Amino acid sequence: METRTCLVTGANRGVGLEFVRQLLARGDRVVATCRQPGRATALSGLAGEHPGRLHVLPLDVADPRSHAALASELPLALGDDGRLDLLVNGAGVLHSGERFGKVTAAILEDSFRTNAAGPLLLTQALAPLLADGARVANLSSELGSITDAGRFGTPSYCISKAAQNMASVLLAHALRERGMIVVALHPGWVQTDMGGPNATVPAEDSVRGLLQVIDGLSPEDSGSFRDWRGETLPW
Ligand code: NDP
Repeated sequence: METRTCLVTGANRGVGLEFVRQLLARGDRVVATCRQPGRATALSGLAGEHPGRLHVLPLDVADPRSHAALASELPLALGDDGRLDLLVNGAGVLHSGERFGKVTAAILEDSFRTNAAGPLLLTQALAPLLADGARVANLSSELGSITDAGRFGTPSYCISKAAQNMASVLLAHALRERGMIVVALHPGWVQTDMGGPNATVPAEDSVRGLLQVIDGLSPEDSGSFRDWRGETLPW
C-alpha cells in the first residue's frame, strides 16, 4: 500500500498517541501535534524508533494563531509537494464535575473553543495542504448525540461535541467538491485519562477499529456519525 501522510492533534497521550503508534506501525508518515512537544516523551521515543517518518510540531487547537503557525510550518515538514492524506482531529477536553446551577461561561467557552471551534478552524486552515480525496476524522462522542441526550452530566462537553458534529457535516459539504471525506467518530469508552478507570475499551482496540472505519469510507459516507465498530450513530 502507498505511504500516506497523516496529521494527528492531541497526539501526546490517549487516543491521539495510539493513532500515531498505529499509523507509524503501518508505514505512514505522521505529523504529531501537541501543545508542548518538549514534554511529549512518548512521541520523542517514537521519533527515535521511526527516523524521518515522525515530525512533532506544536499546536494548541483552541488558538487560531497556533493553527496559522502550523499551516506555515507544515510545508517544511511535508516537503514542497507534500499533502496530507488524513487529518485526525483528536484533541479534546472534558471538564468533569459540572452540575445544573453551577455551569460556568468559562468552562462552556473553553469546551467550545477546543472541541468545536478547534476542529472546524484547524481543518479550514489546513485545507490548502489537504490532498484531494483526503479524509478528515473528527473525534466526537456519543455524548454529543442530541437524540440520545440523557441526564444533566458534563453539559459543556455534550454541547461542544454536538456543535462539533454540526461542524463535521458542514465541512463534509464544503470539501466534497475536492473529493474529501469528513466524518464524526465516537471512539468508544476508551481507557485513557479522559475515559477514566472504568472505561471498557483499550486505546489499541479503539484505534484499530477507527482506522478500519476510516479506511473503509467512501464518498457517500462523508458527513456521517459512526462509532469505532462502524455502527452509525443518531445525531
Ligand atoms: P485525553 O484526555 O486522554 O487526551 C486529550 C488530548 O487532547 C491530550 O493530548 C491533550 O493534550 C489534548 N488537548 C486538549 N486540549 C488541547 C488543546 N487546546 N490543544 C491541543 N491539544 C489539546 O483524551 P482521549 O485521548 O481519551 O480523547 C481523545 C478524543 O476522543 C477527544 O476528542 C475526546 O473527546 C474523544 N472521546 C474520548 C472518549 C473516551 O472514553 N476516552 C469517549 C468519547 C470521545 P494535553 O496533554 O496538552 O492536555
